[in-house]
Amino acid sequence: MRVHLRVLVLFFFLTMGAIGQESFKDKFENTKPGSILKFKVSFNDSLKNATELPIVIVKGKEEGKILTILAGVHGYEYPPIMAVQEFLGEIRPEDLKGSLIIIPISSTAAFYGRSVFVNPNDGVNLNNAFPGKENGTVTLQVADYITKNIIPLTDVFLDIHGGDASEDLLPFACYYNREGQPIATAMAKKLSE
Ligand SMILES: [Zn+2]
Repeated sequence: MRVHLRVLVLFFFLTMGAIGQESFKDKFENTKPGSILKFKVSFNDSLKNATELPIVIVKGKEEGKILTILAGVHGYEYPPIMAVQEFLGEIRPEDLKGSLIIIPISSTAAFYGRSVFVNPNDGVNLNNAFPGKENGTVTLQVADYITKNIIPLTDVFLDIHGGDASEDLLPFACYYNREGQPIATAMAKKLSE
């Protein structure tokens, strides 16, 4: 992956859960090895907000670990969004062992609305919305979907940020120091390094 970014913030953690809705899991399992599936999930809330979550599954020819990459949790942070587009243009599923789940723009309303930090529809910051809420506003529903459907399948979860419009960040990578999960924490540390 060629990444020419001045500012890049990475969060790693390894997930251990196993709960998920069948629909995403079925889509993942039904994607043929060595192929790519692109689709969107729609969300609506009681405030009449509507949003979509684009998802790309890159199913490697050989079975292996699953890496999820999340970009655009803050939709105004363009460098990670551009980086995953570039990455998707380069990756070849037939050469891949294991699979990728890529969410190229996690907060589409913030992206299209050029909104700093929050989804302009419901005013919620997706970065603070996890684990989400099934019957919440659209941003909470997006967080709930990712929490229930994608995190449980994922071995390594990478959430890429950049400096938002009001920020000037130094590049850094960080991971969660989960004392109850020493193996996962050690792997996340190694990946961060
Ligand atoms: Zn961010």
